[in-house]
Amino acid sequence: MAGESSRRPRFAVLGAGMAGILAAIKLREAGHRDVVIYEKADRPGGTWRENTYPGLTCDVPSHTYSYVFEPNPEWSQQLAPGPEIQAYLEGIVGKYDLDVLIRYGQEVVRCSRDDGRWQLETRSGLRDQADFVIAATGVLHHPRYPDIEGLESFEGACFHTARWDHGVPLDGRRVGVVGNGSTGVQLVCALAGRASRLFQFQRTAQWIMPARNRAYSEEEKASFRADPELPRRKLASGASGALFERFNNAIVEPDSADMKEMQRIVLENLEQSVTDPVLREKLRPDYMVMCKRLVYSPDYYRAIQHPDAELVTGGIERVEPRGVRTHDGRLIELDVLALATGFRVDQFMRPIRITGRGGVDLEDFWAVRPRAYLSISMPDFPNFFMLNGPNGPVGNLSLIEVAERQWEYIETLIGLVLSGRAREVCVSREAMQAFDQDRIDAAKRTVWATGCSSWYLDAEGIPASWPWTYQRFQEEMRAPRLEAYELVG
Ligand code: NAP
Repeated sequence: MAGESSRRPRFAVLGAGMAGILAAIKLREAGHRDVVIYEKADRPGGTWRENTYPGLTCDVPSHTYSYVFEPNPEWSQQLAPGPEIQAYLEGIVGKYDLDVLIRYGQEVVRCSRDDGRWQLETRSGLRDQADFVIAATGVLHHPRYPDIEGLESFEGACFHTARWDHGVPLDGRRVGVVGNGSTGVQLVCALAGRASRLFQFQRTAQWIMPARNRAYSEEEKASFRADPELPRRKLASGASGALFERFNNAIVEPDSADMKEMQRIVLENLEQSVTDPVLREKLRPDYMVMCKRLVYSPDYYRAIQHPDAELVTGGIERVEPRGVRTHDGRLIELDVLALATGFRVDQFMRPIRITGRGGVDLEDFWAVRPRAYLSISMPDFPNFFMLNGPNGPVGNLSLIEVAERQWEYIETLIGLVLSGRAREVCVSREAMQAFDQDRIDAAKRTVWATGCSSWYLDAEGIPASWPWTYQRFQEEMRAPRLEAYELVG
């Protein structure tokens, strides 16, 4: 924007979820007045708005799942229920008066670089221009529906867990749950004892990490109010800090002692919690712990052993009007079928049609896999930055903390433009290519590549997440290495 200093820079943020809210607060705090957030829905909250299934809980400690500048002493439990997180985010939007910035019900469908600015268009035809775009559209966003024959023929209620139909009664009904990732496990815990019969259709067994989730006492909350930093300090120094370290190391070193310890914990959990040897074998995975996204649960094994619950491992042949037919010919009759089948994690800000400098199309740039330098910047997409973009740390981490660190880094890049040092900034093609190669090489050595299938793997079977330690991510986020960037103008 050198030479255009008379005009205030305009920022367009895509998405009013946790990351978009963060960006807007930080931009305002830096004195920027021309900020708009485009949000396709009619409320903020992102994934916490869209997921409302029974049992929804954050499996990251509540006190790390909040902005560092907005600690929340009121979290009711060690692991916050989804509605509390949604209320927290809506409270922040209110406190910072962000509603005035958010264009609700406006889904951006096009974003193209033209005349040195980003030209945006929404589904309803609204047009806008921005100097900077911050894509904060989330990772776990687009439901993945299973390709099961006859699904549409089911005569009961059937929906994806991210599209929960609260009009459908569950108590005393026959309920089926397809999937046993974090979502399916939480759902089964919530429905065991409520449904007259509960069937969980498991395709691949999951390791279950025991977790504690007790309620905070009034005394504890009072101490958190008096010293808002206290819970984070406790978490960092206590058992959960140690577990975080171990977890981190085990991902990048599958042969390490930390990995053996993780394996020991989940194995002991299975052996000690499941009494029926037949069920125990059905629940025993045949791959390394953490190869799939680790499922934390205080009560899954108890729930699946409930007298009204049944783990079905025979495989789904098809869905019929009355229920699910398994490969062995059994028809399991159901009133409700919940699809806990995960998300299309390769979408990010798509289906927005994004065209960068010189007409470079995001679809071409991402033809093989979604990629971004340090998860933030892409060549030929100048002044376009992502929060929680591809190849960043995901998994059992607080994505709020990840976004906060990414934001500090993005602020420095924006500063290069605002100070007049450059008109446009994005990673160079060479740096992108070198990063990609290093990342892929490292990803192949992680636990995610040790022989299971999971949403961490891209279409070519390469783990898509950050393949180094979390410490390395923190170091990278301290300041951009400017030699990796192309500064134009
Ligand atoms: P997921 O981990 O991708 O699990 C999908 C499940 O559906 C798997 O068990 C999968 O089986 C099964 N499945 C998919 N297609 C199927 C088919 N055609 N037939 C039978 N089974 C099928 O999805 P998720 O549980 O929704 O979790 C996604 C991510 O969301 C988590 O990993 C986590 O990052 C996040 N999440 C977080 C929390 C939290 O507490 N923070 C809570 C919920 C979700 P296979 O294993 O055989 O593929």
